[in-house]
Amino acid sequence: KLASREFHPDDTIIESKGVKIGGEHLVIMGGPCAVETPEQINEIARLVKNAGAQVLRGGAFKPRTGPYSFQGVGVEGLKMMADAGEKHGLLTITEVMTPEYVDVCAEYADILQVGTRNMQNFDLLRKLGTINKPVLLKRGFSATYDEFLNAAEYILAGGNPNVMLCERGIRTFETYTRNTLDLSAIPVLQSLSHLPVISDPSHGTGRRELVEPMSKASVAAGANGLIVEMHTDPDNSMTGDGVQSLFPDQFANLLKDLEKLASLV
Ligand code: PEP
Ligand code: MN
Repeated sequence: KLASREFHPDDTIIESKGVKIGGEHLVIMGGPCAVETPEQINEIARLVKNAGAQVLRGGAFKPRTGPYSFQGVGVEGLKMMADAGEKHGLLTITEVMTPEYVDVCAEYADILQVGTRNMQNFDLLRKLGTINKPVLLKRGFSATYDEFLNAAEYILAGGNPNVMLCERGIRTFETYTRNTLDLSAIPVLQSLSHLPVISDPSHGTGRRELVEPMSKASVAAGANGLIVEMHTDPDNSMTGDGVQSLFPDQFANLLKDLEKLASLV
């Protein structure tokens, strides 16, 4: 299989606009759950850049559990985020939910995210195999490692080698946390596959106070990067994910600590 270590013994390094993802490089992606307004995404981009991160995250199309919840601002959001990323010298990552929107998302964003609910949306995966932009594929919340790697295989088999895997928590019997961040997934996936492994401690816990310790645990376990939700006004954010979003100063402090930690591991 194309995703396997046997096929490709060396770590895959993905490169976008001079930023390297994989191998020894630690990439940090930060930003809101959803793009809301130009002012919001611009201010958050400024803070993400100042903290030392390389990638701005933000959803323009949101995969909400209920149909009456805020669904994202759509293509306008892609444009707002592209402007903010360019202005502050950050790469951008955004979620794409359907094959029809892959081209427009790829036009405005540097990295395309496949959400946990779409890990086995095979038409979407096939379409992502036909482009060259990096794809961050999130693990389905009930997917085994084998199912996860097979989902990545769909993209690779289509001809796009720029795939990173993202552990974002799985569903367990525990209800205190939103999901259970499966830290073992990090070394296991890195042993089975050459693809970069990114950890998402925000969705992986659903609780702001757990994001810092689980970010550090992920880096200690060998993660190639983190994707972390941060908001300037989490209590009034447009999705329910404010409860798991860091305040800007927490985000900045986390990155300072990670720098020290990364030099130790
Ligand atoms: C997100 O990144 O905001 C998101 C919806 O993630 P997930 O697909 O992991 O729930
Ligand atoms: Mn979110």
